[in-house]
Amino acid sequence: MPAHLKNEIGNKYGMLKVISRAKNIKGCSYWNCQCDCGNYKESIAASALRGGKTISCGCQHNGRKASNLVSDKVREQRKKYYKELKNLPY
Ligand SMILES: [Zn+2]
Repeated sequence: MPAHLKNEIGNKYGMLKVISRAKNIKGCSYWNCQCDCGNYKESIAASALRGGKTISCGCQHNGRKASNLVSDKVREQRKKYYKELKNLPY
């Protein structure tokens, strides 16, 4: 394994968990993943995983769902932030 290659095994992207390495295609690293639904998806580009382009085996609407996930998270953080503001003792 080349030193510059980031080990993605065990990482989770959306619903996909990286389980093993696939063959490189055009110098890009590809990974085999298992989806939360139980399906396997082979040969996903690392850039697609890291960029949030591929977040499931296809059982979820890729891309759109990813942005929903992000905004939900942001909303949750904001809620927490405002709650903490309110709790300030002044
Ligand atoms: Zn799936």
